[in-house]
Amino acid sequence: MFQELKDKKIFEQARKHAYAYSDGISDMDVFPSEENIENLKEFDEPLNDESTEAIDVIDILNQYGGPATTAQTGGRFFGFVDGGAIPVSIATKWLTDFWDQCGGLYLTSPINSKLESVCELWLKDIFGLPSQTVAGFVSGTSMANLSALCAARYRLLKNQGWDINKQGLNGAPPIRIIAHRQVHSSVKKTLVMLGFGSDNIEWFDADEQGRAIPETIPTLDNSCLLLLQAGNVNTGGYDPFAEICPVANKAGAWIHIDGAFGLWAKACNSLKHLTNGMELAQSWAVDGHKTLNTPYDSGIVMCADPEALVTALQASADYIIYTDQREPILYGPEMSKRSRALELWAVMKYLGKQGIDEMVTSLHLHAKRMSEGLTKAGFELINDVVFNQVLIKCSSPDLTKSVLASVQQSRIAWCGGSMWADIPVIRISVCSWATTAEDVDKTIALFAKAYKQANSN
Ligand SMILES: *Cc1c(COP(=O)(O)O)cnc(C)c1O
Repeated sequence: MFQELKDKKIFEQARKHAYAYSDGISDMDVFPSEENIENLKEFDEPLNDESTEAIDVIDILNQYGGPATTAQTGGRFFGFVDGGAIPVSIATKWLTDFWDQCGGLYLTSPINSKLESVCELWLKDIFGLPSQTVAGFVSGTSMANLSALCAARYRLLKNQGWDINKQGLNGAPPIRIIAHRQVHSSVKKTLVMLGFGSDNIEWFDADEQGRAIPETIPTLDNSCLLLLQAGNVNTGGYDPFAEICPVANKAGAWIHIDGAFGLWAKACNSLKHLTNGMELAQSWAVDGHKTLNTPYDSGIVMCADPEALVTALQASADYIIYTDQREPILYGPEMSKRSRALELWAVMKYLGKQGIDEMVTSLHLHAKRMSEGLTKAGFELINDVVFNQVLIKCSSPDLTKSVLASVQQSRIAWCGGSMWADIPVIRISVCSWATTAEDVDKTIALFAKAYKQANSN
């Protein structure tokens, strides 16, 4: 064993399979066929007693695994605000996979520590955040929300003379949770995980575009955690930060903004007005793997109260050696972790500010094109397409559901359904750098055909 790994055969084999996959991406089923899903049962076997040839491991995975993938890196996967990795980030991942860096400490990876610092500076600049803001590089926005809310909990209790790290939750003064009615499910999950309890949330209302209605926000004080969002997961709508944040800051509340995909509007000259005032918050969560199209496992928490973030997430043990360099584990909940800042750095370095602006703008323009085409084809457009989300429905819930099912079954494009104002809707997220105008037109034609068919049944 291991001897056979010394030559580069398995890597050549993996590369061959990867290139064949990539060459076929625009013609493959966007969602795997039933047969290919059925074939996944090949993996249902007891663990072999003896070892397997390394090249066979790669071949088996390729043979049965490849066809059971969704075409995320093609141009017609419009589900869940998922991006598709930009090739330069995949190449970076290939190279740095050979480095296998544990990104937790400076001593385990000086390069990761350095590029986290560089990404922190670049992101602060792109998003226009206060100079003291620090960033932590985590697995996604779920983890970024968790990290930010830990910091908020620390600070809001500290303000009331309570040290959560020492005194814990039992007997702690209450924190008021003031949440947007349309808050993302990951934020709700985080609130529950942190022990705030869903029954204790004070909800405020959202308008028909899913934006916070400021007048419905309860009177705030310095025990309040205010949860806002940049980019509603259905409509893409943005809360009016410039109106809400100054009032919340005056009251001493902690403002957290979930901007998983939407925060990137700030990087575009033509769209940045959507985020006006967002720099007045105390913490922000954003993904690399959605709008920025990095590979998965890339989320960022940013916090304008470094002491709160670092104290809330701190770890110490005799064997943990901190240097005077950046120590990544201080800014997130993980210890051993992927050096995900390397790909984030690569994508930003490759695109530059103009490239990011162009890419994000083109997601928006393709979403506009999609919405116009679908409206012409007879669909009712529900949202103002301010960013990359297109929300549509048909004249009846049954018709909507049947069109969605037929589009999904075609496997030419894929998107998901959702509920909006208690009515089933179709949700299209244009989030991949790879989407072209032809992809959009092909998808519109697919919807038009499905609509005609469903209507005539
Ligand atoms: C996707 C998303 C999340 C969760 O992010 P992950 O990267 O999937 O953990 C949170 N909030 C919003 C608005 C999202 O779109």
